[in-house]
Amino acid sequence: MTNEPKLVTVSPGVHAWIGAGGDSNAGAIETPDGVLVIDAQQYPRLGRMFRDSISATTGKPLRMLIDTHCHLDHTHGNVVFEDLPILAHDKCLAAMHAALGPLEGDRWKITDFSTKLRILFGTNVNELVPEGDPYRAWFHQRIGLPDYDVVTILPPTQTFADQFVFHLPNETVRLDYWGPAHCDNDIVVYLEKSKVIFLGDLVFNGRYPWLGDGNLDGWIDRLSHVMTLDISVAIPGHGPPTDMKEVARFRDMLIAIRAGVEKAIKAGWSEDAAVRDVQVPEFAHVSRYKEWMPIDVKAAYRQMRGR
Ligand SMILES: [Zn+2]
Repeated sequence: MTNEPKLVTVSPGVHAWIGAGGDSNAGAIETPDGVLVIDAQQYPRLGRMFRDSISATTGKPLRMLIDTHCHLDHTHGNVVFEDLPILAHDKCLAAMHAALGPLEGDRWKITDFSTKLRILFGTNVNELVPEGDPYRAWFHQRIGLPDYDVVTILPPTQTFADQFVFHLPNETVRLDYWGPAHCDNDIVVYLEKSKVIFLGDLVFNGRYPWLGDGNLDGWIDRLSHVMTLDISVAIPGHGPPTDMKEVARFRDMLIAIRAGVEKAIKAGWSEDAAVRDVQVPEFAHVSRYKEWMPIDVKAAYRQMRGR
């Protein structure tokens, strides 16, 4: 993990912006018509650093911003790119409307803590970690910086269902939606010839998964699908660029959570007992395990109990 965010070239004309200490990542793909930007950072100050770095590295104008999903650590910086079209999946825009309510003019301006949490951690976060819950303090410090005092989010200006493709002279860039996973609107950006994939938050490299309102079965299935693709470099939503081995390891963590909760439900444990006692010791060393594992168990229990 690095202490400063930085732009790393992962293939000719393809760059990954790696957040400091596991903060959210982003990307930039050079095309003859300008740079395609992938994700916009967790607040505008970082978004501007990212934008300046793209310009310094490529010397090219920007063409479009792509949001991989709705969460604010990837979209709060959209305002830095407001001169560009912003492309996302239909469900990304729908999720923003659902979480954020009515627009103020052409954007949302959020000051309410619970609403900020919903667009950062999913629509059920305030039920998973209600005010008064000992785990809630971590969430207060997570967005404690003045950069989060007013969260301004610009909606996508253009959306698509299922798939969107850029046919470049020497590359095909595919934006694919495969169904609910980390949230209900995750897309991946796959460069077929360079064999580079931007996974959004389908993978956190070096960090325990946050389940929230994600779909555990769907997430595991999506990663199994990613593993069938021809990929040399995978850019996760958080953490350094990686490969299919790490994608498999991350999927194993999700499978381990599911297996632990499944066992608890079959044994008739209450939700409280599952939250207290379901452990995945082989992954307990992974960052955020302590803070997130009990909440993941609660989310998984609520999802799986009903099926
Ligand atoms: Zn996310």
